[in-house]
Amino acid sequence: MKIRVAKSAGFCWGVKRAVNIAVEAAKKGKGKAYCLGELIHNKREIERLKALGMDFVEDMEALETGNTVIIRSHGVAPQVFNYLKEKGLEIVDATCPFVKEIHDKVTKLEKEGYPVLILGNPKHPEVRGIAGHIKDPIIVNSLEELEELPQFSKLGVVCQTTLNMDFFRKAVSLLALKAKELKVYNTICKATTVRQKETRELASQVDVMLIVGGKNSSNTTKLYQISKSVNERSYHIESKEEIDPSWFEGAEVVGVTAGASTPQWVIDEVVDYLRLLGEGGNWSGRGVCQAAGR
Ligand code: SF4
Repeated sequence: MKIRVAKSAGFCWGVKRAVNIAVEAAKKGKGKAYCLGELIHNKREIERLKALGMDFVEDMEALETGNTVIIRSHGVAPQVFNYLKEKGLEIVDATCPFVKEIHDKVTKLEKEGYPVLILGNPKHPEVRGIAGHIKDPIIVNSLEELEELPQFSKLGVVCQTTLNMDFFRKAVSLLALKAKELKVYNTICKATTVRQKETRELASQVDVMLIVGGKNSSNTTKLYQISKSVNERSYHIESKEEIDPSWFEGAEVVGVTAGASTPQWVIDEVVDYLRLLGEGGNWSGRGVCQAAGR
């Protein structure tokens, strides 16, 4: 039995950077360090960060003057930033530079007179942050919603950094028929593209595929959907505790990948547990359980 782990599995550059910035802020920031929203979508990593002295709040009004507030990699709308500043909080901005580039792009499109359409989930914090940079954003998350849009004389388009590439392709083809002048920025992050491509490839080569990461993590969920579309035996798990040994019945190769917000130690726990299962003879191909592909 072999275990193949995707090379790109786990933290992307932007999340790694945000965690490092937040840990530094917890040590050296003014007062107590609060992160606005979960820094990453992983309960156990959140517990680890809490043990380092950081806390997490959803409601910015609950923050008190004299403390530090960390803006996570998703970024925020300028209104949020200004509110925190006016409240006298020390702001530590861990917004991913790639997300900041989208803020600049939508601002520029608006200045150039383009109505701006954002492809992505309107409830996702990254999309809300991007939308907050312009006056009348149009946010669309499905081809059905796109079909219903009116015709535009000109239209500017950006997308959530974790958008599914297939959806992006189809959406842009459709929009080309909706607008006389279309200006599209493909703002899907390279980290996302690489993870999605590797997941598709790996899922098509293995018997069973595990996708590790928070159930509320947008990018992990997309990896799961991609994997499931090519391999019926795909499972989205947050930790090794959710693994059911019966999933591996008759399997010879198991693939593992993980979302951009999944810490390495969570992936290692899953891989170690799979090794143990193999050694314990819980798989039909018992015994030989080796990590490969990373
Ligand atoms: S997925 Fe890309 S945009 Fe998002 S935090 Fe990671 S590096 Fe930044």
